[in-house]
Amino acid sequence: MPLPTIVLGAGLSGLYATRLLEQRGRDVLLVEARERVGGRIVSVATGDGTHGWDMGPSWLWPAMNPRAARLVDALGLVLYPQHVDGGAVMEDASGRLQRLPHTWATEPPSMRVAGGLAALAEALGGALQRTTIRLGTRAKGLRLIDEATVEVRLEDGDALRATQVISTLPPRLLVDTLAWAPALPADWQAARRATPTWMAGQAKFLATYAEAFWRRDGLSGMAMSQRGPLVEIHDASDAAGNHAALFGFVGVPHAGRRQLGRDGLVRLALAQLERVFGPRAAAPQAVHLKDWTEETCTATPADAAPSAGHPAYPQAALPSPWNGRVHLAGSEFAGDFGGYLEGALEAAERAVATACAVPEDRDGGS
Ligand SMILES: Cc1cc2nc3c(=O)[nH]c(=O)nc-3n(C[C@H](O)[C@H](O)[C@H](O)COP(=O)(O)OP(=O)(O)OC[C@H]3O[C@@H](n4cnc5c(N)ncnc54)[C@H](O)[C@@H]3O)c2cc1C
Repeated sequence: MPLPTIVLGAGLSGLYATRLLEQRGRDVLLVEARERVGGRIVSVATGDGTHGWDMGPSWLWPAMNPRAARLVDALGLVLYPQHVDGGAVMEDASGRLQRLPHTWATEPPSMRVAGGLAALAEALGGALQRTTIRLGTRAKGLRLIDEATVEVRLEDGDALRATQVISTLPPRLLVDTLAWAPALPADWQAARRATPTWMAGQAKFLATYAEAFWRRDGLSGMAMSQRGPLVEIHDASDAAGNHAALFGFVGVPHAGRRQLGRDGLVRLALAQLERVFGPRAAAPQAVHLKDWTEETCTATPADAAPSAGHPAYPQAALPSPWNGRVHLAGSEFAGDFGGYLEGALEAAERAVATACAVPEDRDGGS
């Protein structure tokens, strides 16, 4: 039996890399630390299962994300535009509100996936046919056995062998949570450690309501605030507006979030939504809070200090370690759109192309 190709991480990049490897006739073992696929893509399903509240990414921009647009289409998923009709609210540092007659739509428009973005990850995972997926399986280390074989050591003590490994772990996890034998050059490791994982320092808050009452008040649901704790708020409802919600990016840094605790943060966020959208906003049906800095399969302690603005991701030019036996994907390794969903796809394409350029020259046991 030929050894499989092992893909580490079943986020968007790992799932897409696996799909491409299958298309090229490869047998793949997909190893994922979490008990679910999707990685940073996560949606909390509504009670009736028709929608998912996105607690990770929400948007893609088909006009400038060609790979994501093609994939959504191929999987039969439906996009709908971010709701932007109506006014916007600005809140200054003292809590003073200014109502603007229009909101500012992005160009090209931000689009959401019907059912939540997790529908994309689930559809990708569900379409895999000749891949073994091991969920809840954390890789702990990589060992180069010989010039044609890599061993992946798992947390549970198991060891797997492959001719090719594609890692989709963000750069910091790659060097801080995987033991490499032989060790990678120190400057290589330092450069990966200096590369933030996009959005890993952030937290997202979402409140659901029986109806999108702000729309009837002439508001889009968009607000920007210098007071916080939410710095940027948007409508997160489904396409029909039947499942109604507002979400916001939490502007309080991780240390402050820890100090406040979940209850303290939820209380402050609801008080802010009430200031901005009126008393009905103070009585949601449910609230959800996702602090990405607490997620050890995404963030390392270095991510607690978020980078200012979008980091540069110059990783694509890196030679792949170990003579082409390990290939690096994941959004932070993209040449374009580093950090974004599109980048996760682009990096997967490149890693699969380089992996498949190396002949499958090894048969063996294990
Ligand atoms: C709050 C938030 C909002 C965002 N908004 C947007 C947006 O609107 N639009 C956009 O384009 N992008 C957005 N992003 C970025 C987007 O989510 C990422 O670009 C994309 O999901 C990255 O996919 P990935 O597969 O490269 O990485 P990940 O999704 O991080 O996948 C890596 C996988 O590796 C697994 N893993 C980690 N360690 C191990 C190990 N040792 N062994 C095995 N498996 C392991 C992880 O569990 C994970 O499943 C947002 C991100 C966040 C957090």
